[in-house]
Amino acid sequence: MDIFCDDKTYIANTYARFPLEIVSGKGAELVGADGRTYIDLASGIAVNTFGMADDEWISAVTKQLNLFQHTSNLYYTKPCVMLAKELCKRTGMKKVFFANSGAEANECAIKAARKYAALKKGKDTYTIITLKNSFHGRTITTLAATGQDVFHEQFLPLTEGFVYANANDIDDVKAKIAENKIAAIMFEVVQGEGGVNPLTKDFVEALSEIAKKEDILLIADEVQTGNGRTGKLYGYMNYPVTPDIVTTAKGLGGGLPIGVAMLGDKVKDIYGAGDHGSTFGGNPVVCAGALNILSRITDELLDEVQAKSKLIFDTLEGAEGVLSVTGLGLMIGIETKKPALDVISSCMENGVLVIKAKNKVRLLPPLNIEFEQLKAALEVIKKACKN
Ligand SMILES: *Cc1c(COP(=O)(O)O)cnc(C)c1O
Repeated sequence: MDIFCDDKTYIANTYARFPLEIVSGKGAELVGADGRTYIDLASGIAVNTFGMADDEWISAVTKQLNLFQHTSNLYYTKPCVMLAKELCKRTGMKKVFFANSGAEANECAIKAARKYAALKKGKDTYTIITLKNSFHGRTITTLAATGQDVFHEQFLPLTEGFVYANANDIDDVKAKIAENKIAAIMFEVVQGEGGVNPLTKDFVEALSEIAKKEDILLIADEVQTGNGRTGKLYGYMNYPVTPDIVTTAKGLGGGLPIGVAMLGDKVKDIYGAGDHGSTFGGNPVVCAGALNILSRITDELLDEVQAKSKLIFDTLEGAEGVLSVTGLGLMIGIETKKPALDVISSCMENGVLVIKAKNKVRLLPPLNIEFEQLKAALEVIKKACKN
């Protein structure tokens, strides 16, 4: 079988894949079908929080798998309730809804915001402000929420009720509030797909003040920034803000599909039976794994994430061919003199996997990558950026 050829023949052309088949791995190391070992600084796009084939996570997942795999949400199961309770304890949010992806988590947040605003302010208040250059998912509604025209053009008409403000421009947000009846403001504290751009503290603080004053809900999309990635359990914890809704996905599952909308005080009881749902949401195998991941995102681990982050900034800032380094924790964007794809290819040839975000090279290593692995990978990146 020629996997590259069969993939091209039988799989829809939605992905530009790197020419590498992965066959196994452990932690931050991957093994390709070419027999080579790679250091993985992508983690399946911030999903494999503790890297490949993590023993503790496998054990949590298989333990549940051996009991039963699925029941539907018509019955009670322990793993999803325990995970919900733990998420609320660790964030101060009040209730959670389980889905299977980031886009679905955001759909749940958007529906919650619409219902809340309709009840509080009337049915004509449904517009949500999102930020330009944001990314919130691929469904027709989360695509509408995504503040990038390039993703919209071929799929019109999208769900109405979204307006886009410039990131870090509070006057623009205020103008949008003046022009529209606003239900919510949705943002990533670090825009991931948009090029790893953190919001400023001043901007987030100002958002928080306006939202409080106008009873506008704040929705933090923590699909990528969540679950320890930024050096805090959730990215918003780096900022002076308490969102009304926090969505997450990617890294919480540790490699199995999960999406969560965490509902704060204002919206904790917004949903009634039948308002929303998901067949697979809260799946016990996925939740048992996620519970294991969450329990291991300790203060000690978060300190380590911050130390690794510092190592990356210290090594790459000012290095030859590096124009800028942005990001928080282990979510890093590198603006390079050479085209990002050239740097990425050169890294891959030299045994290091990194990915792209807009014009930047993006690093999302597993949180438990060893310092020595990270150092070795950074040397390869430095070399690739040079000349
Ligand atoms: C990846 C991502 C999504 C979409 O998640 P899916 O699981 O692919 O649906 C939404 N928001 C942000 C910030 C993301 O990074």
